Amino acid sequence: MRNGKEKSSRRAFIKTTSAGVTSVALAATVAASAGPEASAAEPRKARCDGLPLAVTPACSGHETPAAIEGPLFKPDSPERSDLITPGIRGVRLDLGGVVHDTACKPLPGTLIEFWQCDQNGDYDTSGFSLRGHQYTNSRGAFRLRTIIPRDYWGRWGQRAPHIHTQVQSPGGPVLITQLYFPDDTEAYGRDFAALNAADRLLNRACTIRLTATPENTRYTGTFDFVLKTTA
Ligand code: FE
Repeated sequence: MRNGKEKSSRRAFIKTTSAGVTSVALAATVAASAGPEASAAEPRKARCDGLPLAVTPACSGHETPAAIEGPLFKPDSPERSDLITPGIRGVRLDLGGVVHDTACKPLPGTLIEFWQCDQNGDYDTSGFSLRGHQYTNSRGAFRLRTIIPRDYWGRWGQRAPHIHTQVQSPGGPVLITQLYFPDDTEAYGRDFAALNAADRLLNRACTIRLTATPENTRYTGTFDFVLKTTA
């Protein structure tokens, strides 16, 4: 359970990081859509069949690189780690990881906000579909049940599939970044290698380690954050 202090610090966090979001900006970019070529989200057979599972690397101590927030963050998302709600039919992704400080110490109680577009490349700007926040557990770990988002055209041109996130340890500065997918990811019939190469905001250091489950119908991903805990 969260106490009032944490809630109030969360509000301060949101206030800090949502500055600059205006209704005009929202209106200009709400139409981020995959276009008529968008097809039904059917999981495809993963290409990594037979390859060894990726191993989560030990914490490097290198701070996770920041990225722009983008205009579609919404404050006051529900506290939840499961973003699969009715109507969400994309390629399933179970994402997990640990948040560390730069000395590689796990950070319990760290606030993580996730927001992303759906299987058609659309963000929910009227509700909270595919949006949520959670806190890391006593070992600094988090889990997110979601889908692989689709690519879309937006303010910055062609965007490769990505998950937006904000991470803040108790009392620490906010890290705003975006997580990406490996070139050999298979979802929605899209060429992730080409999409990644064309995305001028993409940072390969923020690529999720992805493995297909044995039945090749969903993915499991790992991403560990490394944060500064003082400004
Ligand atoms: Fe985005």
